[in-house]
Amino acid sequence: MLVRWLASRLGLLAISLTAATAVGCASPTDDGDDVAAEGADQALVERRVEGLSAIAPAPRLVTTRATAAMLGATLPASRKLVVIRELKLDGTAARLVVDATSLETAVVSSSALSGGTRAAVASDDFEATPYIASLRELATTRRALERIDDDAATGGAREPFALTVDMCQSRKPWEKRLFDWAVDLSTQTGKPVPVGVAMTGGWAKAYPNELDQLLGWERAGKLAITWINHSATHPLHCEDASCRRAKFLTDASVDFDAEVLGLESALISRGMLPSPIFRFPGLTHDRARLEQLSRLSLMPIDADAWIAKGQPIRPGSVVLVHGNGNEPQGIDAFLRAVREPSRAAALRSGQSALVSPLLIAPAPPR
Ligand SMILES: [Zn+2]
Repeated sequence: MLVRWLASRLGLLAISLTAATAVGCASPTDDGDDVAAEGADQALVERRVEGLSAIAPAPRLVTTRATAAMLGATLPASRKLVVIRELKLDGTAARLVVDATSLETAVVSSSALSGGTRAAVASDDFEATPYIASLRELATTRRALERIDDDAATGGAREPFALTVDMCQSRKPWEKRLFDWAVDLSTQTGKPVPVGVAMTGGWAKAYPNELDQLLGWERAGKLAITWINHSATHPLHCEDASCRRAKFLTDASVDFDAEVLGLESALISRGMLPSPIFRFPGLTHDRARLEQLSRLSLMPIDADAWIAKGQPIRPGSVVLVHGNGNEPQGIDAFLRAVREPSRAAALRSGQSALVSPLLIAPAPPR
C-alpha cells in the first residue's frame, strides 16, 4: 500500500518538475523522471510498514525493565520515552519512540511497550529532558538549527562539526568518494564516523544497491549514520521560468504530513530508524511549516557551512554537502578541506572531529 502510495507520489513529482535552479537538490537533472521508473519494488519493500501516523500529544512512558525493540537497540530500564508514531510493522502493532535523554529512536511492539513501561509522573521531570526541552524551545523560537551549541558534549575536540549529506532524488551516480573518505577515516581512528544522511524516498527507491552499501558500512561499524528526514518526494515548485525562485515544501499544494511520515515509513521498511531531525529541501521553510514540524515532534536542521556556497567548516558547524551527485563542487571542496594536511592530522588525532547531528538540539543530548 505504502509502496504504491510512494510510487504514485513520485509519478506526480515527475510531472510537476519542469525546470530547476543550479545547485544541489534543485538541478535540472533532479527531476525524478527516471526515479519513478527505475528501482520500483526493489527498495522500500523489505519490511511491511502500514498505517504509520503521528500521535499527538505524544504519550510519555518510562521503561520498568529492559525492553527489546523490533528495530533499534534494546531499551534499558528507567529510560524516558516519548511515543511519537503508531504503525504496524510486518503486521505487528508497534510504536516509534524517542529516548528523551539520548534522542535515539526505536520501533517497539505495542505489547512490549505496555508490558515494559509505566506512564510518566511529574517527578520524572520530562520537561527537563533534552528532547522535550528542545522541542519546547523550538516551538517558542520557530527557527531552524544550524550550529552545535558550545555546551554540547563533543568529546573535547577543538573543531567539532556535524557532516550532513543530502540525498535528494537524482539521475547522477552518488558521491561514493565522500563515503569512502569517511570509511577510511574510521579505519584510521578505529571508531565509527558519525554522519547525518538526509534521505528522500526518491533516492532510496532509485538506488537500492547504494543504500545497501550505506547500511553495510553502518553494520560494519564504519559509519554511525543519523537518518535525517529530507521528505518523501522532495517536491520543487518553480516560481519563474529559470526556477531561480522556487518553493519546496512551502508550496500550498504540498501535503506536508504525508511528506514527513511517508519518508519515515520508507526508512523503517528498509530497517533504518528515522531520527527526530528533519531537513527542509532547499533549506526553505516558513512559520506554518515549522509549526507543523513541531506538532510532528521533529526538529528542523539547516546548515551554516553549505560547502558549495563557499561557507567554510568552523568549530560547531553543521556542514551540508550533496551525496547524490548533483553538487560535485561541494564534495570537491569538502574533500580538499578535510585532506588539507593539518586538518587531516587533527581528524586522526580527534582535535577535529565529526560529531552526531543530534547535538544540534537546543538542549543537546547527554
Ligand atoms: Zn534536497
